[in-house]
Amino acid sequence: MTKNELKAKVCQAIAARKQEILALGNAIYAEPELGYKETKTAAKVEAAFGSLGLDYSKGHALTGVKARMKGNASKRTVAMLGELDAIVCPDHPMADPASGAAHCCGHNVQIAAMVAVGMGLKDAGAMQHLGGDVVLFAVPAEEYVEITYRNNLREQGKIEYFGGKAELIRLGDFDDVDMALQMHVQTTANQQELDSGKGSVALSSTSNGFIGKLVQYTGRASHAAAAPDQGVNALNACMMGVMGVNALRDTFKESDYVRFHPIITQGGDLVNVVPSDVRMESYVRAASTAALKGYNEKINRALEAGAMALGAGVKIQDLPGYLPLYNDTTLNDLFGANAGALVGEEKVVLSPHMSGSTDTGDLSHIMPVCHPWVGGCSGSLHAKNYAIFDEELVYVQTAQAIAMTIIDLLYGEAETAELVLHNHKNLMSKAEYLTFMESVNKTTTFGE
Ligand SMILES: [Zn+2]
Ligand SMILES: [Zn+2]
Repeated sequence: MTKNELKAKVCQAIAARKQEILALGNAIYAEPELGYKETKTAAKVEAAFGSLGLDYSKGHALTGVKARMKGNASKRTVAMLGELDAIVCPDHPMADPASGAAHCCGHNVQIAAMVAVGMGLKDAGAMQHLGGDVVLFAVPAEEYVEITYRNNLREQGKIEYFGGKAELIRLGDFDDVDMALQMHVQTTANQQELDSGKGSVALSSTSNGFIGKLVQYTGRASHAAAAPDQGVNALNACMMGVMGVNALRDTFKESDYVRFHPIITQGGDLVNVVPSDVRMESYVRAASTAALKGYNEKINRALEAGAMALGAGVKIQDLPGYLPLYNDTTLNDLFGANAGALVGEEKVVLSPHMSGSTDTGDLSHIMPVCHPWVGGCSGSLHAKNYAIFDEELVYVQTAQAIAMTIIDLLYGEAETAELVLHNHKNLMSKAEYLTFMESVNKTTTFGE
């Protein structure tokens, strides 16, 4: 069978399973779970792998599920990833009433598309024509949320990193993978697309990474009206710290895409007492690891200066976040050509740098990855108006394009996978990556 005949057969097999693929996506949509707690979602993946007769292992970074489909040889391994977790959006119509979790980042689509790839390869008997293996990997905790909960998991020794892919890399669960493909849904405001019900595909280029921050200012409580002179106002110290960062903003280079967006999670205890314990969370985002570290130092200096000005204390906890994303250009070209054949070349574009972040960025430092944004949704990501309008594109055609890309990579002797690896230079080894993560992990204190 030629490569193109095989591609056609796999695409037909995926199309024939459309109702099952949608049913899986909808079942996960109906039961959203937050990162490192995705037990019901993982069980759905296990059931799907089981019904395909795939060998799988579970419990990777608590909830991950991993299946390996063997080729006629195992020269290289291509992984297709799907993320298990939801985001918190209590206003979304499908939100879980207890946790507020909702799938308005479309990870349910990722899982269904990943299973769809397995269905297509299996039903078409494709693996016997491939010189490498395919790993289907349902991975936990892409959204960097519930920082306090994850910090507790870390203190209990259950995880080390708050992002699922970082944790999986640390645990060695990507040691047997050479390159990874994954899709993420994207929303569109393009009226023509919304009216026609036909979305488009954006190949992704680069994205920001970030360092997570927990900041605590400590002052001295005192009566806010009768004896403010006896107190040290931690809220004022915090505001001075944030103003210090704002004063630095004109030193942030446009090309570094710096973002600092703190929230004050505790601003004081009682209105008539000088605030003595004020807490803040933030990310520091930037487009490269060097920029991340440089701006983080500057921002910490400004935050400390707020404490210095007021005679307060500050504790700044820097937490490993996500690394910037770099997509492999050969993989992007292959996926783009396959997607273009399905939806029309004019519907496949290259997206500019994205100032948001994903833990696929971490993976992209140690292996080639391709992470397209598939625009079949309306509203906003992470918001209550998020909704899918092009099910055919996000569930079926994306899975077909990824399956075709896997065939390109592994057909015959997996020569194209070899070419990708030949053309690709990893930004870090796994050891260098783990060293970087540890170098971020630090607590700075100033004053009391
Ligand atoms: Zn998201
Ligand atoms: Zn997401």
